[in-house]
Amino acid sequence: MYEEDTIAAIATPPGEGGIAIIRISGAGAENIATKIFARAQGKNGKLTSHRLYHGEIHEPKSNGMVDEVLLTIMRKPRSYTGEDVVEIHCHGGAFITRKILGLALSQGARQADPGEFTKRAFLNGKMDLSQAEAVLDLIRARTDKATELALTQAGGELSKWVHALREELIDIMVQVEAAIDFPEEEIELLKRQDVIRNIGDLRGEIAGILNTYEWGRLFREGARVCICGRPNVGKSSLLNALLGQERVIVTSVPGTTRDVIEEAINLDGLPVVLWDTAGLRETDDHVEQMGVNLSRQHVEKADALVVVIDGSTRLTQDDEALLRNVEIKKVLIAVNKNDLPQALSLDDISRCRDSNAIASVSAKSGAGISDLKKKVRELMIGTKTEPAIVLTNLRHRNALLRGETALRRAETTLGEGYAAEFVGVDLNEARDALGEILGTVTNEDILERIFNNFCIGK
Ligand code: GDP
Repeated sequence: MYEEDTIAAIATPPGEGGIAIIRISGAGAENIATKIFARAQGKNGKLTSHRLYHGEIHEPKSNGMVDEVLLTIMRKPRSYTGEDVVEIHCHGGAFITRKILGLALSQGARQADPGEFTKRAFLNGKMDLSQAEAVLDLIRARTDKATELALTQAGGELSKWVHALREELIDIMVQVEAAIDFPEEEIELLKRQDVIRNIGDLRGEIAGILNTYEWGRLFREGARVCICGRPNVGKSSLLNALLGQERVIVTSVPGTTRDVIEEAINLDGLPVVLWDTAGLRETDDHVEQMGVNLSRQHVEKADALVVVIDGSTRLTQDDEALLRNVEIKKVLIAVNKNDLPQALSLDDISRCRDSNAIASVSAKSGAGISDLKKKVRELMIGTKTEPAIVLTNLRHRNALLRGETALRRAETTLGEGYAAEFVGVDLNEARDALGEILGTVTNEDILERIFNNFCIGK
C-alpha cells in the first residue's frame, strides 16, 4: 500500500501571495532539486540538511531562469513525511508556482494526492492516525479553543490514553488466555471476579471519554443555533445585536425575512453558526409559506434554538404553539424588547414551557445581550470545566463505542459463568477498536476516507 515514488505539490493556497511553497517528498526529491536549482554566486557542493539556501530555479533544458528562491532540504528521517523532503520558497504568483511544480514533475515527481504528505508521515510512523487527523482539524480550526483541542490531539494526548487502555486490555487478555490454555485450572471464582472488575473499570474509562464527545464536537464543528419566533418579535434585530453589526435589514413589516440568514460568531472559544429564519406563523401567502417551511427545516437541524418572544405584548397563539411544540432538547427563550413596558410575565411563559433558560434582552439597546451569549454557551456545553481529554472525532467515537459494547458483552458472559474462551472474541474486538483509532489496525478504505479530506500539499 506504500508507494515509493516521489510526490510534489504546491503547499500554499492558490492565488497571489508574498511567497508560495512547493513541496517535494520521496527518495528522488534531492535529485530533482539539484537538476532545477542553482545556488547564488555559483556556489556548489552537497546541500546540508535543514538549511535554507538562496538561489535560482532554472529550466534544465534551456537553462532559462524561472525565479529567485529559497530552498531547503530536510533529509529523512527528520522531516514531516519521514522521507527526504525539499521545500522551494518562491514568489507567490500562480504562474510561477505552477511552472516550478511542472519542472519538478518533469524531473520525475508525481503530483501528490490530497493529504498524501500526511499519509506518508503516518505510514512512516511519524505520527499515528489520530494525530494525522488532528493536523486536518488544526487547519480547519476556527477559534482559539478548537485550535487548542487539535494541537493537544496532534501532540499525542489522545493516543497516549488509547495506548494505555490497550495495554490494560492486553493484560486482561493474558489472564483470560491463561485460563483458556490451562482449562484444568479454570479461573476460579475469585479470579473471575477480578477479571470482571478490571473489564468494568476499563469500560468505565471509555464511557467517561465518550461523554466528552458532544463537547468536543461542538468546539470542532461549531454549534448550530437557530433564532426563531413569530414575525416581528425582533429576530433579525437580535442577530444584528449578537453580531454587533447591521447584517440584516430590520423592518416593522411582519414576514419580510424569507431566506435563512447564516452568520458565525465566537462565544468565548465556542464557534457558533447563527441562523435567522422567517417568522413561524400560519400564513396564506405562498412565498412567506416557503420561508416558514425553510425555517422549520432549520429548527430541526439546529443543535439549539433561541426562541424570541416580544415582552412588550401578551403571548399570541403563534408564540404559544412554538413554545409548546419545539421538540428539541436545547431551547433558550429570549424575551425581547425589555426597553419597552413589559406586558409579559414569566408565568405566562412557564404555562407553555417548563424552562429556566430565559434571558431578558433588548436587541435595540443591547441590554442583556452579553448575558444571552453566556446563556447560549452554557446551554450548549454546560458550566463544567474542560475535561483533560476531549473526543472530537466521529470515527474515534464510533471505535470507542464498539470497544465499549464488546467489553460489556465480555463482562456479561464472564458474569454468567461461561468458560473463558467465550470472551476471547469480544476482547479481541475491543482491542482492534482501540487499534483503529491509532491506525495500528487499518485498511486502505479508512485511510482513503481520512486523507481525501485534506487539501493537496498537506
Ligand atoms: P423579526 O421579524 O422577528 O426579524 O423582527 P425585526 O428584527 O425585523 O424587528 C421587528 C420590529 O421590532 C422592528 O421595527 C424593530 O425595530 C423592532 N424591535 C426589534 N427589537 C427591538 C427591541 O429590543 N426594542 C424595541 N423597542 N423594538 C425592537
